[in-house]
Amino acid sequence: MKLSTSTALKTTFAASLAFTALFSTITVLPNSHAYAAEAIVSAESAPKLPKVQVIATGGTIAGKSVDETSFQNYRAGTLLMEDMVKSLPNKDQIADVSSFQFGNAGSSSYTMQQLSSLSLKVDQALETQDGVVVTTGTDTMEEIAYFLDLTVRSAKPVVVTGSMRPWTVIGSDAQANLYNAIKLAASGKTKYYGTVVMLNDEIHAARDVTKTNATRVDTFQTPMTGMLGYIDEQNIRMYRANARALMSADKWATPFDLRTIKSSSMAKVEIAYSYQEAGAGAINGFVEDGAKGIVTAGTGTGGVSKAIGEARAKAIKEKGVIFVSTTRTGSGSNYSSGDGMIAGDSLNAAHARILLQLSLSFSKDFKTIQGWFDTYGSGQVNIPTK
Ligand code: ASP
Repeated sequence: MKLSTSTALKTTFAASLAFTALFSTITVLPNSHAYAAEAIVSAESAPKLPKVQVIATGGTIAGKSVDETSFQNYRAGTLLMEDMVKSLPNKDQIADVSSFQFGNAGSSSYTMQQLSSLSLKVDQALETQDGVVVTTGTDTMEEIAYFLDLTVRSAKPVVVTGSMRPWTVIGSDAQANLYNAIKLAASGKTKYYGTVVMLNDEIHAARDVTKTNATRVDTFQTPMTGMLGYIDEQNIRMYRANARALMSADKWATPFDLRTIKSSSMAKVEIAYSYQEAGAGAINGFVEDGAKGIVTAGTGTGGVSKAIGEARAKAIKEKGVIFVSTTRTGSGSNYSSGDGMIAGDSLNAAHARILLQLSLSFSKDFKTIQGWFDTYGSGQVNIPTK
């Protein structure tokens, strides 16, 4: 297709602006010389924008508020991603954006079976896209993101985002988060990092990030070790690599290939919280209910009450239940392991549950599962041989 000079000029000018915005740290304004040179370039040779698909699941980001100042009075999972993307200004300068409406619900309403379908959908999209953005509610975002991190096969960027304020209020973080998530996915900068979470301009590893506040927009934090990087308009800065990014290519993909199991047969895994004089009821009830694994959110370095300790020993001995020990403190590592018990390192209870559930869905062997926690579950960085 041949374009008129003025159409070609506009097309190439827009594309060059887009690429300047995306990949350059210095904004270069076009001068008359560059203008003249580009005017003869046809649309066929204009650089192609990276393809990014936004896979939407709902949450506050798709929320419709009662009015423009109802920050907390809104219906989450209401707006459609197609319309949200359409209304985003300047998106054509950063990526060739498409959308897929996977669902429109609150994050905690998704079943693990549905999350398996979501993960497969992400991989399917990455066959043709350069990156994927998944929008979810923030309540269980850290679990959804870690599930994707552990299951998606492609090393291309997967960026999870959402918002703390609905799309339709003044000063919403929704539009900025969606825009920056698309920009991050298009940049390719998180390739091999696994799934990352991006809100409030900050980029966090799915394994490590947690929601720390019920209402504030800076709720997502990585305790102790901090974020991976951040976004300052066109400058996407990655300041450190997570354990995943430093894994050798042959070990990069996890053993949790969802194409090889029935998602309806995911193992039942629960979380038991310990506190002053905590009773045995939760553990006994979970076991009776068919739990194959239980994560304890213990006190300090993973301690549990006497009653929980006794119920745990019984469940391991009599039912072969596998336990993972974590701390309820919100940060720090955990080293308590033993027969039937795995140390959760610095995984929080919600993250440890995702890994234990996937592990038990792929193996019943304690040593194998412990090995997966020590490798794929570990947050520790190993520098590849030089
Ligand atoms: N209830 C919402 C959800 O998790 C909250 C949010 O989106 O931030 O879906």
